[in-house]
Amino acid sequence: MKQKSKYQQELEKEPFYNLKEEEFGEEVKFKIDKDSFKGPFKCHGKKTGLIDKRISYGDIEFKYNVWQCKACKKEYLDFEQARKYEKFLIMKKALEDKLVTVERSMNFDGKTYFFRFPKELASNLHREDLVDIKLLSTDGRMFLVEVKHRH
Ligand SMILES: [Zn+2]
Repeated sequence: MKQKSKYQQELEKEPFYNLKEEEFGEEVKFKIDKDSFKGPFKCHGKKTGLIDKRISYGDIEFKYNVWQCKACKKEYLDFEQARKYEKFLIMKKALEDKLVTVERSMNFDGKTYFFRFPKELASNLHREDLVDIKLLSTDGRMFLVEVKHRH
């Protein structure tokens, strides 16, 4: 049996992968090619071409690329495009205040501030993971934290 590619393994870890098309509404229609996660993809016997897409949400305009078949207009996202699009969906949810929120007490060991992940959220985390912290506000009190797999 063929081993799953690294891209496929990574992609299957993404919640995005499991979402169905209708959950995005009418604005976006695409297929993720499950066998290959790097474009250009093949459709109707031909290579798909890159096209620019835009979605706006309120005053925010989001630009991204997809691969599109010239014959049937079907759109394909590669792994990086899917990740980028997923970020937009997360931002949209954040603006609508629909994100799952966890409140934790701050801990201080005399030198360092830290907080503990709730057990329910830690099952997918590993000791060797990397924590990527993006500062969101200038007062240093708002962050975007992403736990990444170490490659
Ligand atoms: Zn096609």
